[in-house]
Amino acid sequence: MFDNSVAQRIGQLHTESAFQILAKAKALEAQGRHIIHMQIGQPDFKTPQNIIDAANRAMNEGFTGYGPTPGLPEARTAIAEYAARHKGIKTSMEEVIVVPGGKPIMFFTMLMLINPGDEAIYPNPSFPIYESCIKFAGGIPVPYRLSAKNDFRLDIEEFKKLITPKTKLVLLNSPSNPTGGVFTRDDYMAIADVLRDRPDIFILADEIYDRLIFEGEVFSIASLPEFKDRTVILDGYSKTYAMTGWRLGFGIMHPDLVSHMEMLMVNSCSCTSTFSQIAGIEALKGPQDSVDIMREAFIERRNYLVEALNGIDGITCCMPKGAFYVFPDISSFGLKSKEFAERLLDEFGVAAAWGTAFGEYGEGYMRLSYANSLDNIKIAVDRLEQFTKTL
Ligand code: PLP
Repeated sequence: MFDNSVAQRIGQLHTESAFQILAKAKALEAQGRHIIHMQIGQPDFKTPQNIIDAANRAMNEGFTGYGPTPGLPEARTAIAEYAARHKGIKTSMEEVIVVPGGKPIMFFTMLMLINPGDEAIYPNPSFPIYESCIKFAGGIPVPYRLSAKNDFRLDIEEFKKLITPKTKLVLLNSPSNPTGGVFTRDDYMAIADVLRDRPDIFILADEIYDRLIFEGEVFSIASLPEFKDRTVILDGYSKTYAMTGWRLGFGIMHPDLVSHMEMLMVNSCSCTSTFSQIAGIEALKGPQDSVDIMREAFIERRNYLVEALNGIDGITCCMPKGAFYVFPDISSFGLKSKEFAERLLDEFGVAAAWGTAFGEYGEGYMRLSYANSLDNIKIAVDRLEQFTKTL
């Protein structure tokens, strides 16, 4: 209903299939089926107690009203200090904007920088919202392929060929969703070499998984002084601190871009929940042992899962170096990845995302999120193996 009434721009938006798969898996559970959830990018841990306590204290102390649109000064300062410490970027609170989750930085950046007809180069497969937001802003999405043969790092020669006079924005996401690939410092240097003489091209660096790098180093392209002013960093608390439902994220960018983004914030959200921001200060400044425990658990699950998947005839899976996803190649079974994932859920009760949910170059793959207990992961692998034997 209303398909002919809603504004045309709404037709440019696409969904995130992981949420659709979740809804279907829940519906099957409601019918009494036992489902293992490997489809959603959400840590299965509870938010650390010190952060919950800080939010409770903040509410009791009166942080329940509107706050400044770009964020509480103390929250912005804590983020700037964190960025200096963790990402090696010299920054200050004027360059920080606090928003409800990591996603708004994506949406706002496209609305702020892309004019109709501008090209935005983005990884494929990747988080589906990138392409959706580029199109919504009237831009032309130009995919760069991430492929397993290259450990899901970018092929710089291919990347170079995609730059045109119309290129306005380049999206980087390391560690990557859905592949778990991590760019090396050399990859960043090569990208910097390609973009150096095109100061008109901006970069959106999605660093939301950069506390979950298992092999390799943390590196932000904004730590290169000549790239700082034209980079927008997207980051947040969802993945690192198991805070997906708190809706708390931030962007780091030139203060003039912060002012423009502030206009988008004031016209949409007004501000970010103030008690969440106070809890976010505790997250960044308080003890980090919960983050280390979650990280270790992810590494143990990843190691198990990759070995187990490679032990199934017909599946090959490269070792992801970060995030909490594996992206195995299932092309040998001859099914489209969507059909493979749908049948795996319908027939064997394992919910996974199909590769093409992340773009056309995801065909032949599926994404399994290992944000689930090792026991459940073992059941999922057994069921997956049984499924493959039926094909
Ligand atoms: N960027 C990437 C690559 C993601 O995978 C996600 C969430 O899955 C986000 C951004 C958005 O994070 P948030 O839930 O904080 O909006």
